[in-house]
Amino acid sequence: MIFTDINRAINLLLNKEVVALPTETVYGLAGLGYDEQAVQHIYALKNRPQHNPLILHYACLEDTRTDVVWTPWAQHLAAACWPGPLTLVLSLTPTSRIPLAATGGLNSAAIRVPSHPMIQNILRALPGPLAAPSANLSGQLSPTTAAHVAKDLDVPILDGGPCVYGLESTILDGRTWPINILRPGALSVEDISTLLLGFQEPSVSDYAPGKGDAITTNPAPDIKVLCPGQLLAHYAPKKPLRLNATHIKDGEGLLAFGPPLLGANVCVQLSLEGNTTQAAANLFAALHQLDQSACQTIAVMPIPQTGLGCAINDRLLRACAAFAPATCSV
Ligand code: AMP
Ligand code: MG
Repeated sequence: MIFTDINRAINLLLNKEVVALPTETVYGLAGLGYDEQAVQHIYALKNRPQHNPLILHYACLEDTRTDVVWTPWAQHLAAACWPGPLTLVLSLTPTSRIPLAATGGLNSAAIRVPSHPMIQNILRALPGPLAAPSANLSGQLSPTTAAHVAKDLDVPILDGGPCVYGLESTILDGRTWPINILRPGALSVEDISTLLLGFQEPSVSDYAPGKGDAITTNPAPDIKVLCPGQLLAHYAPKKPLRLNATHIKDGEGLLAFGPPLLGANVCVQLSLEGNTTQAAANLFAALHQLDQSACQTIAVMPIPQTGLGCAINDRLLRACAAFAPATCSV
């Protein structure tokens, strides 16, 4: 059931039901964040492993204070970026109302303030945060339209149009300095550095997934420990991917970035002018489209590790790892 009335979504949520909502990153499968039953329902619907914690979405920074402990740099960055595609992992306060089920049993929580006007209005009408992972089955492609959600899940869906970023939020560990990027996402390393200018020496860790290494060596072990939910094989289409393609093989469809390679019978363009922000917005929709096309496998043209290219390559590596981890590198 797809609808556009936000009051209907609010009533369903207040009744402890789970609703798919638009955000500026991807569509989220949302339930009341303080309600254990709603949280468990989200895990069950997505078939998500219990140890993979959820992101809690708040109306504003002030509303988070009873649940998490802020560090100065994290607060500076959040104040500059929110509402927006930044998620921070922070320690829980002793008075936190977030159920253990939502944090995977950890003494920390991942939080963010989303900017999409629909979820913002909904959050302002609710008594607490929303827990909202992406509205897809665990491990599959993330949804960037209401129709994508409907392909995976039989839940009420609030349609807010295609997501502006089309890529998940960037997750940082807000407890420690220098910064650890737990998941590259819609806020680029360059943006983070700019937002921290003037605060103190910004030194964003040189986290560049897949930078010339075999995927089996990424992510680094400490990232795995800090971010238990960052499963390697993830974000996968139904068809195998071949990264860094410089020619087309028989039966392959093409995921193009810039002027396309010749010879593919199906070609979906991420960004003809080679713009990584535009490519990020198109990424999941393009993979959904190639999944439904006549091609057997997908060749992906090289994408630079600049701007949102880092997050795009992270998703492509994980998608590739679902099929043949040993062969994947960017
Ligand atoms: P998503 O898969 O988009 O719902 O994002 C949730 C991700 O945030 C999880 O997969 C974890 O990697 C990360 N995360 C959430 N909570 C925590 C936490 N307390 N500590 C570390 N990482 C977390
Ligand atoms: Mg997800």
